[in-house]
Amino acid sequence: MNDLLVMKFGGTSMGSAGCIQAAARIIAQGRERRPVVAVVSAMSKITDLLLDSLRRAEGGDGPGLEANLQKLQDRHTLTCRELLPPEKQEAALQAVHNLVAEFQRIANGVLMLGERPPRSVDEAIAIGERLSALLMAACLESQGIRAVAVNGAEVIVTDAVFGSASPLMEPTRDKARQNLLPWLEGGVIPVVTGFNGATVDGRPTTLGRGGSDFSASILAAALDAAELWIWTDVDGIMTADPRLAPDAAVLDEVTYGEAAELAYRGAKVLHPRTLAPLVEKQIPVWSKNSFAPGKPGTKIVPRLAAEEHGPRAVTSMTNVALVSLEPASAVLSGTKAMARALEALSAANAEVLALSSSSYRQSFCFLVRKDELAAVLECLEATLSLELAHGYLKPIQVDENVGLLSVVGEGMKGTPGLAGRIFTAISRENVNIISIAQGSSELTISIVVRREGLEKAVRAVHSECRIAEQARVRKQGERG
Ligand code: ASP
Ligand code: MG
Repeated sequence: MNDLLVMKFGGTSMGSAGCIQAAARIIAQGRERRPVVAVVSAMSKITDLLLDSLRRAEGGDGPGLEANLQKLQDRHTLTCRELLPPEKQEAALQAVHNLVAEFQRIANGVLMLGERPPRSVDEAIAIGERLSALLMAACLESQGIRAVAVNGAEVIVTDAVFGSASPLMEPTRDKARQNLLPWLEGGVIPVVTGFNGATVDGRPTTLGRGGSDFSASILAAALDAAELWIWTDVDGIMTADPRLAPDAAVLDEVTYGEAAELAYRGAKVLHPRTLAPLVEKQIPVWSKNSFAPGKPGTKIVPRLAAEEHGPRAVTSMTNVALVSLEPASAVLSGTKAMARALEALSAANAEVLALSSSSYRQSFCFLVRKDELAAVLECLEATLSLELAHGYLKPIQVDENVGLLSVVGEGMKGTPGLAGRIFTAISRENVNIISIAQGSSELTISIVVRREGLEKAVRAVHSECRIAEQARVRKQGERG
């Protein structure tokens, strides 16, 4: 659709009646100029509450479940009362009640079974988004703006990987158009739940934690939107985490490649999978702060207008573990061991954050997320059981006392001396570098350091490479 704007609001931006009203104002302003589809997350902390409720139910904790259900009901009832004029409350309160009852029905099933089937979990936790979509649509309607809450399961078609589903773009395109374009053509704003979808045969799925950004980008691509605006509680994508580097600056523009890299490597503003659906149609994305809508935010684009040199941002991750493998005899070639290990990682469905190997004996190590470690080790031990049993491979080593620092920027390519400056800055802080990885695209340098040195290292690299200054100079250049 021509000129369509997709706007997504995160959990904090939906966190209270006041926040929802502010978000509704942003939507109202947007649609004065062009058609808008809104995508919403559950109110902040609600998905955690729902997951906790299901865990309690599985564990047979009936009273704990009851208490959580009460919290769920109370938070949304209260928000509803604060949000809507008295004459509009009754219908919305009834709808809230019905959704809470739907959650309760699934949770009671879990309580009885003592088990949480993944597809029931997905159906249940999407209710957080269905509640917030309901509230947003009611809020818009109460201000005379026509809006309708739409369940993401009606518009996003996914595979059957419950808890971390991927979209099937062709059927999604058909369904999204069929179900959303008539509303848009009639001047009604669809408020779509983020986070969820359904398989081709209609079984409910979710896209993974934080997946509402991904929902919004899937819909933007499916509807050929002109732009996607992602509203959160920060001013945009920053040169570093401001809690670690207080002088960090907001970047005015980053490329898809840079933004995806930053998201995968610990920058929390954007869900890592968000950008993939947009690349083909080159739909630009804005990351903006719903608590300061006047600020420009960060624009994510296919290419930068002005060429950049050097790094754009530095990120850090703490919830990681380094796994090392080393052949113990010449019987097993390092290459074979590596091939088998990668096979195991793929079987575990785990993401490799960094991979490196150097010595002639081809010992090698890779970094994974801590929450994927158990699955990784299980798959490695299964795949390499013979090699381990025969002593061709030394026992697998795991180091959890590590952190990952990543320096990202398209302009790092072919900039000599950069790695030297980065390593010198880190060593000046007396932080030991454990492992280093840089892909040949030169988009990212990844450095694994001792956990306790991570924050210092981030500050040192951020200031040595003058990353914040570069960002500020660039913005001034644009303004001047
Ligand atoms: N509500 C979901 C979560 O907390 C999805 C999202 O917020 O994007 O993970
Ligand atoms: Mg979120």
